[in-house]
Amino acid sequence: MPDAPILQVTDLSVEYAAERQDVRAVDSVSLWVGKGEFVGVVGESGCGKSTLLFAIAQLLSPPASIVAGSVSFNGQNLVTMTEKQLNVLRWRDYSVVMQSAMNALNPVISIGAQFRDALQAHGRFSAADIADRSGEVLALVGIDRVHLKSYPHQLSGGMRQRAMIAMALLFTPDLVIMDEPTSALDVVAQRSLMGQIRELQRTLGFAVLFVTHDMSLVSHYSDQLLVMYAGQVVEIGLTRTVFDTPAHPYSRGLLDAFPSVRGERRRLTGIPGSPPSLGRPPSGCRFHERCPVAEAECTTEQPELYPVGEVASRCLLNRPPAVKG
Ligand code: SF4
Repeated sequence: MPDAPILQVTDLSVEYAAERQDVRAVDSVSLWVGKGEFVGVVGESGCGKSTLLFAIAQLLSPPASIVAGSVSFNGQNLVTMTEKQLNVLRWRDYSVVMQSAMNALNPVISIGAQFRDALQAHGRFSAADIADRSGEVLALVGIDRVHLKSYPHQLSGGMRQRAMIAMALLFTPDLVIMDEPTSALDVVAQRSLMGQIRELQRTLGFAVLFVTHDMSLVSHYSDQLLVMYAGQVVEIGLTRTVFDTPAHPYSRGLLDAFPSVRGERRRLTGIPGSPPSLGRPPSGCRFHERCPVAEAECTTEQPELYPVGEVASRCLLNRPPAVKG
């Protein structure tokens, strides 16, 4: 863990209230993000990663709610803050970029007016200052300032995502939380936007918490990686280490499912089946129904996160000898 993480999430759990039984979508997740660090969160759809991000950003709405844990951001617990207190921090100290800018941006207000509203929510700025800053952040993401007059539908998908990122940078926050910001784009636009995010991050010094289902996308950009399965963290550690020597069978499965530009040519294999229902997760290890190396005890014994070299892995095969058997 970095000396003074700007974000420290501890044992965070989120449940969706349901008629028959509440569904725990995020189960006791802990993570940390250091200043200027890029942390990736990966896993298949339905593993709880977007819910985790919304919970960290304090953007959950009923029936979802945080039922346990804390989210310490620059030393303040966001979970216990009022909406009014959170509104002071949003945009200014941390901001969020959603999966689809078309849904996040207001379709009937120009980009410039949306930037102005976000700026005015946090202070008194002259019209000239607003125009300057708005043009400046738009230029940072490679969009000409004339598009401040444009409406979201007048921009391409890639430009809309860039405009969302520009808006997230209006105050140069300490942390930008991103929920699959490139998933609606084609591969070339995806790579270009990712490169731009990384470059901006290096130049401006903000930290990024980035959710994606695409392992290859984070491989080049993230410093630290968190792999989620069925609402739990199954592996966490330095991205390079997880990619070079994945400790958890699920991480190995995700890595085997996409082509590598390095090393020998190999046949791609997916992970058979699909993630379990979070309403009724399997007994024992939640991955046992799909795990190629499952053993008998995996169906009954719940693994914890065990340290394995530089990572931690939630697999019984990684248990330290002292606690085996
Ligand atoms: Fe596979 Fe068992 Fe490890 Fe779970 S605990 S990942 S089922 S080997």
